[in-house]
Amino acid sequence: MMDGKTRLVGVMGWPIGHSLSPAMQNAAFRALKLNFIYLPLAVRPQDIEAAVRGALALNFDGFNVTIPHKVNVIPCLDRLDESAQAMGAVNTVVIRQGETVGYNTDSEGFIQALHAHGVDVAGTRVALLGAGGAARAVLFGLLRNGAKTVAVGARHVAEAQKLVQAFARDNQSAQAFFWQDTAFNAALQECDIFVNCTPIGMSPHDDGMLPFDPTIFPRHAVLCDLVYNPRLTTFLSIAGRQGYRTVPGADMLVYQGARAFELWTGQPAPIELMQKTLTTIL
Ligand code: NAP
Repeated sequence: MMDGKTRLVGVMGWPIGHSLSPAMQNAAFRALKLNFIYLPLAVRPQDIEAAVRGALALNFDGFNVTIPHKVNVIPCLDRLDESAQAMGAVNTVVIRQGETVGYNTDSEGFIQALHAHGVDVAGTRVALLGAGGAARAVLFGLLRNGAKTVAVGARHVAEAQKLVQAFARDNQSAQAFFWQDTAFNAALQECDIFVNCTPIGMSPHDDGMLPFDPTIFPRHAVLCDLVYNPRLTTFLSIAGRQGYRTVPGADMLVYQGARAFELWTGQPAPIELMQKTLTTIL
């Protein structure tokens, strides 16, 4: 029930109608009886600066930012935490005493989702497909948490090279490949963890399939897909039937949202309930 003390948060994006975050965050606030509301905020690309000023003027506690604002919001903020600074992108803003601080909870969300499935990335060999914003967060999280090697495959190898140059500690820890290169194929055949960081298989193109068969991976490999709609992509559903352990993108979505919830409220997020809410919508 809203009243004069209701605290405001939300998500700025364009378009924003597809966002699952309002349902997930509002369910969490209700469950913990917190007097917060999370609003979908349709903000055109050219209006991000005015929108940040508006959030300050309206006494918001913070907000998420999604496509296309994750990079362009940075000059509008007072400061960035270490993760947002390293990634050069923000997905969560906290407002305290008139100061706007940008965070990036995507990489932590990915690592937490793996932990929830009993997977520790330290010492593992990882293969990633894709070199966009999500791959950036995943690569940062993997290297920061001690992955031994990360092979980044992309259809534009120059994009993969940029990513690797931004984060790799040395030439061995991360390497860029053209995705149809035999060397990338070899990395797929010997990886412990594979992550699809492309939108292949995302609704409405649900039947989209990665350019290799799931059986290329070793039997022990954990296969992750960042696509969260549908909850079970064609890739993950084939892999699951073949006996692989799989981690769906919805889990990362929950954990990155849970971290934002904790930054705004200072309370542990009700993870299971957020997961159930997403599963119901998806
Ligand atoms: P992005 O910045 O646009 O990057 C997409 C990457 O995928 C680029 O490297 C792009 O390569 C590649 N790609 C796109 N279509 C492809 C295709 N048909 N074949 C091969 N490569 C293709 O997007 P993003 O923000 O990284 O998001 C990627 C996916 O992750 C989306 O489905 C998004 O919904 C999901 N995601 C999930 C979460 C979560 O919490 N689960 C968080 C963030 C993102 P080019 O440069 O060649 O186009």
